[in-house]
Amino acid sequence: MFSPTHFRDLFQPSYCERRVWLATNKPELAIPDTDFIELIQEKGTALEKNRVEKIGPVETPEYPEFQFPTGFAQTCKMIELKVPIIYQGIFISKDQQLMSIPDLLIFNKKKKRYIVQEIKLATNLRAHPEIELGLGLTGILAKEVLGYKPILEVVTGDGNLISPYITPDVEFVKQGMKLINELKHLDKMPFEPSGWSKCNPCPFFSYCWDEDWKKHHVCTISGIEQGMSRALWEKGITTWAIMLKKGSAIADVKFQRGSQTQRIGSTRADKFLRQARCLSKIKHEIIASLTLPNGYSPGERPIVIFDVENNMPIFEELGLPVDVYLWGLLLVTAKTTKQELIIAPKGPNGDRKGWRMFLSTMAHIFEKYGDIPIVHFSAHEKTKVCAYITDFGDVHSTGQRVLDNLWDLYRAILNTVTLPVPSYSLKEIEKFVGFKRTQEEYGGTWSIVRYNEYLEAKTNKEADKILKEIKTYNGEDLLATYEVYKWMEEHCC
Ligand code: SF4
Repeated sequence: MFSPTHFRDLFQPSYCERRVWLATNKPELAIPDTDFIELIQEKGTALEKNRVEKIGPVETPEYPEFQFPTGFAQTCKMIELKVPIIYQGIFISKDQQLMSIPDLLIFNKKKKRYIVQEIKLATNLRAHPEIELGLGLTGILAKEVLGYKPILEVVTGDGNLISPYITPDVEFVKQGMKLINELKHLDKMPFEPSGWSKCNPCPFFSYCWDEDWKKHHVCTISGIEQGMSRALWEKGITTWAIMLKKGSAIADVKFQRGSQTQRIGSTRADKFLRQARCLSKIKHEIIASLTLPNGYSPGERPIVIFDVENNMPIFEELGLPVDVYLWGLLLVTAKTTKQELIIAPKGPNGDRKGWRMFLSTMAHIFEKYGDIPIVHFSAHEKTKVCAYITDFGDVHSTGQRVLDNLWDLYRAILNTVTLPVPSYSLKEIEKFVGFKRTQEEYGGTWSIVRYNEYLEAKTNKEADKILKEIKTYNGEDLLATYEVYKWMEEHCC
């Protein structure tokens, strides 16, 4: 039976028609990030529980596990009896092809009608077409089962109640379902170019990406968009080697970006050809000479390496008050290196306290070394410092001084050198420069999962063990960034 969750395969983590086919025909190829999915589910359940507790006593249809038609019959009886609040009732269409499990059916005594209320972890529903279409499907089924079009409401992750929630057009929802059903039953897997950012969070990443990477498909060249891959593919330019053979002629290839048609153009063509050359030869290429921060010469110190670990915004809405839980610093002087891994304390003011601890550490560093470069990888650290100044204020302009001294290593790499890497993420570049981590498991989502386990740890021993792992991960991020910085000093100046 088709249910709202089926829209997820098409849209999450990004729109991909191949994923619908793979999820149906080759589910064994998926390697989901189970821990992270469980964490999100846990947060979703907590939000739901919280809402249900607030709304008052509820009644839930009882039926044997997965016996949804029985649950549907039970729900219909409860509706007939005008049960005030039905939690997780079952809606099934007359043809038995569609099903939905709305979170709450709330009986409005005055209007003698039920209101359908859904609880969603997301805060911006417009950014989630799968939720919108799912709500549309629930709306269609609610009308059929109740015999009238009920008001549909949504409670979002931040506790906001959207009432009424205007569901997408019925035809639009039906088209979405039709597309998914067609994709599921295709004889062959549909063509879909991989893309590092698009595919990396997808459970089929290692299947799709590895296939394309092994075959040197153009979609694995960093910077090539999906539309460009398709356009190049249509012209027979499928691999790095063919692209290099075509040379600057690829500049004339036209591709679709949204509603616009564009030429690849000579600047992008040069960039892609350089990237393809580097990948083919497994060798870097210098684009321009690197200017180090503060007019430094290679090897000149001191510098600070800076990296933050933060929770997902949605967790804050669910009662976890800390966003940045670790402010990581590595101070490198001519003689020593010293790590300062500042963990924001648990509790309601943890965020503010962690920020103040970070500012205090930075104030000491500025006092001792003056305005020294603060090297970070990508815009993330700058965004967080700006947000914390806005939310919690600055102390003696130390936050502003941090901002004034930030130096983005990622930007410097893009402007200076082309590397034989599938992506310009730190994790890929560190491998290229030969940096090795000690922990087998690491990464942004891993760290978030572990941090939340740390918060919920039952004993101090368990909490300390988890904290040690998180600190090791961040400490190695700092060391990796430093190794990349040193590599740049050595090869690009
Ligand atoms: S890995 Fe990429 S191409 Fe493959 S199913 Fe996922 S998003 Fe689609």
